[in-house]
Amino acid sequence: MNVLDQLNQLNLHLENLILILLPLELFRRWRKGQLNRPCVQEMLASVSPLIPTLLLDGAYTAYMTLAFMACYQLAPIHIPTTLFTVIPAFLLVDLLSYIEHRFAHEVRLYWAMAHSVHHSSPQYDQTIGLRISFVDGFTAPIFYLPAFLIGFDPLLIVSLITFVLVYQQWIHTETVGRLPWLDPWLNTPSNHRVHHGVQTQYLDKNFGAVLIIWDRLFGTYEREEETVIYGLTHPIQSVNPWVVHTFEASRLWQDIQQATRWQDRIQYLFRHPGWQPAPAIDPQLGRQPAN
Ligand SMILES: [Zn+2]
Ligand SMILES: [Zn+2]
Repeated sequence: MNVLDQLNQLNLHLENLILILLPLELFRRWRKGQLNRPCVQEMLASVSPLIPTLLLDGAYTAYMTLAFMACYQLAPIHIPTTLFTVIPAFLLVDLLSYIEHRFAHEVRLYWAMAHSVHHSSPQYDQTIGLRISFVDGFTAPIFYLPAFLIGFDPLLIVSLITFVLVYQQWIHTETVGRLPWLDPWLNTPSNHRVHHGVQTQYLDKNFGAVLIIWDRLFGTYEREEETVIYGLTHPIQSVNPWVVHTFEASRLWQDIQQATRWQDRIQYLFRHPGWQPAPAIDPQLGRQPAN
């Protein structure tokens, strides 16, 4: 079996892991007496994005095949797949995933349309790994195009992208505590709980997919200390699938509508989700009013 087949086999095992992890999660909540109606409704809201995602499966495949192969055709060299090229290819894909994830948190249009859906639940369990907006399937692949332009085998890069995605399923759990030997190097349940936290010290932290070293290198790493509170800084307070999908997009639209200047509307789209325009100059004071 060659290295690509082994990687695909590993991906298959990781994908199937949810068939064990999800029942275990349900059993744990049931034993703690937490498997009540609101909890189940929240879980159903989290799996609701699977419906449009499955319906669009053919469109994703066609879109990615076209984009990836077009870039691969432009590559100056075509790199053979061996054990020695798999490692740099994996590091590149994991780094591109970090960049994509950070961009999704720091550019409001991307945050509102694609990524905020993943963060909007006040719960943290295996179903959150499935709470992915259907928009993500069109936006995230763009960030992996450099790997095809460099000339890595498209089949290898697609397998590695699949690996960094399916790896992240198991980390959506409160069952596993801190793992002192792994937490400094890998994205673990503890590191990823931090990523889903709304406390100030946890915002925009731990973007890594498989390796957490990128966060330590780029200054976005935070250890889990205070018990994490999950969700959005403006809580969604709904389990309606339509609201789950459109909550941050409609907040962005409201801000754009209320803005009085075009430069503020543009900045709302492309700046950090927490950005607010400076108050207008008070003509009588000749300066911005004090808060
Ligand atoms: Zn995120
Ligand atoms: Zn997550």
